[in-house]
Amino acid sequence: MNRHLDSGTSDPADLRVLIIGAGIGGLCLAQGLRRAGIAFTVFDRAPSLVTRRQGYGFHINQDGDHALRACLPTDLYELHRATSSPAPTGDFVLYSAQLQEIFRRPLPAPPRAYRGVGVNRQTLREILSAGIDDAIRYDSDFQRYGTSPDGRPVAYFTGGETEAGALIVGADGAGSAVRHQLLPGAEFDDTGRAIYGRTPLTPELRAQIPADFIEGMARARDERGIALAAAAFISAEPLRKAGARLASGVQLTEVGDHLRWTLSRRGESPAADTSQFWGSGGAELHTAVADMVASWHPALRAIVDAADAEATYPFGIFCARPVEPWTVPGVTLLGDAIHTMTPGRGEGANTALRDAQLLTERLIDVASGRSPLSTAKQLYEAEMLRYGFEAVERSRAAYFAPAMKPQAGP
Ligand SMILES: Cc1cc2nc3c(=O)[nH]c(=O)nc-3n(C[C@H](O)[C@H](O)[C@H](O)COP(=O)(O)OP(=O)(O)OC[C@H]3O[C@@H](n4cnc5c(N)ncnc54)[C@H](O)[C@@H]3O)c2cc1C
Repeated sequence: MNRHLDSGTSDPADLRVLIIGAGIGGLCLAQGLRRAGIAFTVFDRAPSLVTRRQGYGFHINQDGDHALRACLPTDLYELHRATSSPAPTGDFVLYSAQLQEIFRRPLPAPPRAYRGVGVNRQTLREILSAGIDDAIRYDSDFQRYGTSPDGRPVAYFTGGETEAGALIVGADGAGSAVRHQLLPGAEFDDTGRAIYGRTPLTPELRAQIPADFIEGMARARDERGIALAAAAFISAEPLRKAGARLASGVQLTEVGDHLRWTLSRRGESPAADTSQFWGSGGAELHTAVADMVASWHPALRAIVDAADAEATYPFGIFCARPVEPWTVPGVTLLGDAIHTMTPGRGEGANTALRDAQLLTERLIDVASGRSPLSTAKQLYEAEMLRYGFEAVERSRAAYFAPAMKPQAGP
């Protein structure tokens, strides 16, 4: 099994990494490996990077920022910063459905004084794939892994394609096929469903809604437990202009300023929520959301009424149970594939980025002959499982905390 790499006499040419999944974590790992001169191929089942229903954005915390700074070339890191939205600095506010203020407190100071930024997910993925397009294969649906006659892990894809490497990294998200085979007993709690939407931030909408929805973090909730949370994405510079200025050749899809919002509902059981809409199309779902908030204050209704109806979709909220370390050689996991978590603390993508940075560092040890692959893999997994499942538990506690705390973050 990986004889050269495990004997410590590693030839960097032997270290070829097969990354399953071109999501946030898989692409960040790919950038780190490209920077380090380590060979890799990324496989994604989607036909291209532009996929609907991937979520509209999230907050980059200090862990995520460290990872992006470490893995991206400087021009792409600067492009990421220039195309981000400043973090909210106002208050966290809870309103009633009739826009009465129930609760207000300043947003907590970020740890280590790092305030972070908001990113548009599609933009970050476009930046994370820049310069490595030659090594990304779309329409490659991973099915299972096996072992080649010389002991290397082999990935099998729908359609019969196979690929052998030194290491398979399952970065294929919460429904990971790699995890299903590697850890068939791993359990995820299904903690419910929510609906995600996006509303262009026009001057008319700005004039209508409370400033807290733009400058801070605000949500509104009615007596049935239906809650609408929103966050603004306002890029400092038009994305195409930033691309031309900082990293010519990188084509970014223009994204206007917008509010991304989440509608969730708390019931007796965590799963007693919006699950009846699973499988609905965007327009149908948007109509259902508009009906749910029809009796709300006009300023709150405006967020839903002015939304891009087709961009409305339901998503599941899952939370992984801790797993024991595994001993299978040549296969590892990263990001949501192993430690998916609720959006309660906004740490899922940031933890995937942290994994990518850590795995890059351990693989550099292998490429430089400092460590056999088996040791590097074990070190990565031990550390990733520790902080990954600490983050899962924090997210679970935050998500099910009493009413004053944020629920599903937008
Ligand atoms: C509403 C919402 C809000 C969120 N807010 C935040 C936040 O504020 N902060 C935060 O840090 N996180 C947040 N998250 C979590 C975050 O989105 C995830 O943790 C993050 O995307 C995980 O990255 P990943 O690379 O592990 O997986 P993903 O980004 O899910 O990527 C997985 C990739 O694998 C591909 N794939 C899947 N199966 C296969 C297969 N069989 N073969 C080939 N390819 C495959 C998929 O096409 C996809 O491209 C939020 C999530 C949601 C739903």
